[in-house]
Amino acid sequence: MDTSKESSRLCVVGAGLAGAAVAYRLRDEPASVTLLEKSRGVGGRAATRRRAGCRYDHGANYIKDSDDRTTSLLQSLGTDGLVDIDGPVWTFDKTGQITESDRQESHKWTWEAGITQFAKRLLAETDAEIRKSTRVEALDYDDSTNQWRLTDTDGIDHGPFDAVVLTPPAPQTANLLSATRIPGAADVVATAANAVDDVPYRTIRSIILHYPFERDRPYYALVNPDREHDIGWLARESCKPGHIPAGEELLVVQMAPGWSAAHYDDPLDSVASDVAAMVSDLLDDDRLADPDWIDDQGWRYALPDSAVDTDVSSPLVEYDLYMAGDWVVGEGRAHEAFWNGIEVGEQLIDGR
Ligand SMILES: Cc1cc2nc3c(=O)[nH]c(=O)nc-3n(C[C@H](O)[C@H](O)[C@H](O)COP(=O)(O)OP(=O)(O)OC[C@H]3O[C@@H](n4cnc5c(N)ncnc54)[C@H](O)[C@@H]3O)c2cc1C
Repeated sequence: MDTSKESSRLCVVGAGLAGAAVAYRLRDEPASVTLLEKSRGVGGRAATRRRAGCRYDHGANYIKDSDDRTTSLLQSLGTDGLVDIDGPVWTFDKTGQITESDRQESHKWTWEAGITQFAKRLLAETDAEIRKSTRVEALDYDDSTNQWRLTDTDGIDHGPFDAVVLTPPAPQTANLLSATRIPGAADVVATAANAVDDVPYRTIRSIILHYPFERDRPYYALVNPDREHDIGWLARESCKPGHIPAGEELLVVQMAPGWSAAHYDDPLDSVASDVAAMVSDLLDDDRLADPDWIDDQGWRYALPDSAVDTDVSSPLVEYDLYMAGDWVVGEGRAHEAFWNGIEVGEQLIDGR
């Protein structure tokens, strides 16, 4: 696709960080960008919810400052409301023993208005059109015009487009590839779909526990590095300015993958009391067994455990079909998804 032509049109499936990054990278190019997003909002797994005066990041907790370019990028999007979470992450083991962590702390970025700000601020820098509540179901390539048309689950047709970038988690991208028709290239598409489907994922169910009282502690969050506790991660959302009213606490409890898979479809009421009891036990505070309200979010495809085999998926680039996301890199990190989207944006600009 020639991104220097105003008449060129790019479609990005998914408005998470990888999709937002592709649009952001193309922001100064004359080509038009359309994002098709199945949810009502942008940000994907870097998600924020609002309830009863609270704001909480129930997917990704923060953007890790693994290199200076991420910090510079975040600051360039505006420092107003940008938050560097104070307080360290401590650890606990399978017996529930909590230990002060001695690991080097980097910045932990989010925003007062929640982590969805990352995608929102990126997209605000672009002219991209975002079609929300649009779940793509099939893709068709016309080899006489070299253009794509996409169909959503309401039967609405989108296109034509000169190039498409798929950014849903690997299993959902594999489903889309299974519904992708390229005349004369069925084998290439099927091989890519299988390779993408092979990316293994961890499932996480986040349980949200709200309390009408504060708990002052020296840490922001606790993590279970031995991965043998039913709780994988527990964070105090009150450590993020602008998230929780004074005098209250909200805990985001990410259950371990084994527990999450086993209890994924259990009704929230039936699991929340067990989780609150575990939290009360872990933090040695009886009051925590009785939250005043609860919430949850299941992330079936929370974190990829390895990267896709790009040797198998890259032949699709010949048809201007690209893929981006944390699973292309093989690390479930918001900044990895972002930088992979930037890389794919650069490939599009270079016409590679
Ligand atoms: C519980 C949890 C905790 C995490 N904690 C952290 C953390 O603290 N720090 C960190 O750096 N990372 C964390 N991560 C990982 C981070 O959230 C992801 O790596 C990153 O957000 C992935 O971005 P993405 O754009 O690749 O994918 P996604 O965010 O999944 O975006 C894909 C988008 O595609 C959309 N979509 C899917 N199918 C379709 C379709 N058919 N049609 C249209 N749209 C579709 C989805 O709705 C979604 O918006 C966490 C993830 C989870 C789940």
